[in-house]
Amino acid sequence: MSTAIHIGEGAQTSERYAQHVNREWVRLLDLLQMNVRYERCVGEELFTSDGRCIVDFLSGYCVHNVGHNHPDVVSALQRELERCGPAMIQTHVADLAGSEGVEAAIKFARAHTRRNGILAANHAFHGLTCGALSLMSDDFWREGFGPLLPETKTVPFGSLDALEQELKSKKFAAFIVEPIQSEGGVCVPDAEYLQGAELLCRRYGTLFVLDEVQTGMYRTGTFLAAHHFGVEPDMVILAKALSGGLVPVGAVLMSEEICDSVYSSLPRAFVHTSTFSENSLAMRAGLATLEVLEREELGPRSIEAGDYLRNRLHDRLSGYEMVKEVRGLGLLNGIEFRAPKQLRLRIPYEAFGAMHAGLFGQIVVMRLFRDFGFLTQVCGNNFMVLKVAPPLVVDRAHMDAFVDAISEIVELANSPGAFWSEALGLARRAFRS
Ligand code: PLP
Repeated sequence: MSTAIHIGEGAQTSERYAQHVNREWVRLLDLLQMNVRYERCVGEELFTSDGRCIVDFLSGYCVHNVGHNHPDVVSALQRELERCGPAMIQTHVADLAGSEGVEAAIKFARAHTRRNGILAANHAFHGLTCGALSLMSDDFWREGFGPLLPETKTVPFGSLDALEQELKSKKFAAFIVEPIQSEGGVCVPDAEYLQGAELLCRRYGTLFVLDEVQTGMYRTGTFLAAHHFGVEPDMVILAKALSGGLVPVGAVLMSEEICDSVYSSLPRAFVHTSTFSENSLAMRAGLATLEVLEREELGPRSIEAGDYLRNRLHDRLSGYEMVKEVRGLGLLNGIEFRAPKQLRLRIPYEAFGAMHAGLFGQIVVMRLFRDFGFLTQVCGNNFMVLKVAPPLVVDRAHMDAFVDAISEIVELANSPGAFWSEALGLARRAFRS
């Protein structure tokens, strides 16, 4: 049985997508009753074809820092299109240029250090291209796609001893790490960890590379999360929010020394390039986004809003045994759930777990969406953590409404009744079909 909200063209789109792109994605959205058709998206509000307003508390995994369709980014793109300038000519010096982040960092680190090894942290999320995937420890993402890059390894996030043990071998070109593990469960490390990692990298000749794809662009309050921790990476990978939510773009910031060691001679002038890297629309989107972030002071706003939201969530949720912790920095936040101790809740909870480890979180996500109009997701590598990351322009009324919504859901889950019976029914349907 499909529970999707299909209206006119939306149903056709879903059918075509299922037929030609990914059938299971459509099935999943149908099951979660999240298969709506978005028609107009402004700031943190997403208007659907059936007249609902959904408030975005996911931001496309930290893409929409300036809010959806910010007018300044839109008009920068319009101007760029209207000027009929050069695009992807490939044989000139482009005014504006960019590339594919994590893959570039791997290549540049290897070329610069003349070492092959790349080290990363357990439960990191760096992307699903082959190089980036080689740096991710979770089997779910890797299964069926091997063999991946050789000489890649992961160590526990937060352990300087484990890191030193590996770095000592002097085989590693780079240690690539998220300053805050986002999909790993919004794990905020102590400053000593990142500072210690930087020191160890320097000691053993390994580049210290920060993946700030989710944490960068003021998501945590400072331009880079690195600024909170007082570290100076050799390379920084940016993407997501740099696009202004409109045109895909990535960037790798690095020292001149590293850059020069790759483009080291005339024959090597084009050893790292790609067709779409010369993309003036993407660069215009990036420049306009940077301007908006700074002019609208979205960094300080992220800190202030994040503190407010976390405090309110903490006040309302801390009494519930299933809520383990509310944590984060700026507007990158997570609510971690845990298994209930009371027998009356443990029975349905364990029945859930036996079907799929992610079911509990998906039911919370589904209820937030269907019953309260909030778009969220759980973390990709930790299904017990609900990500709370609205655009940095989010207003207080929406934050207050979110706190009320999640509190109501947690209260419902705290007693054996509608929450668990509905969820078990849905789970059974999912696995039967
Ligand atoms: N790095 C981090 C921290 C991410 O969260 C992601 C994607 O979610 C990536 C890298 C990869 O980005 P993309 O999906 O554009 O390949």
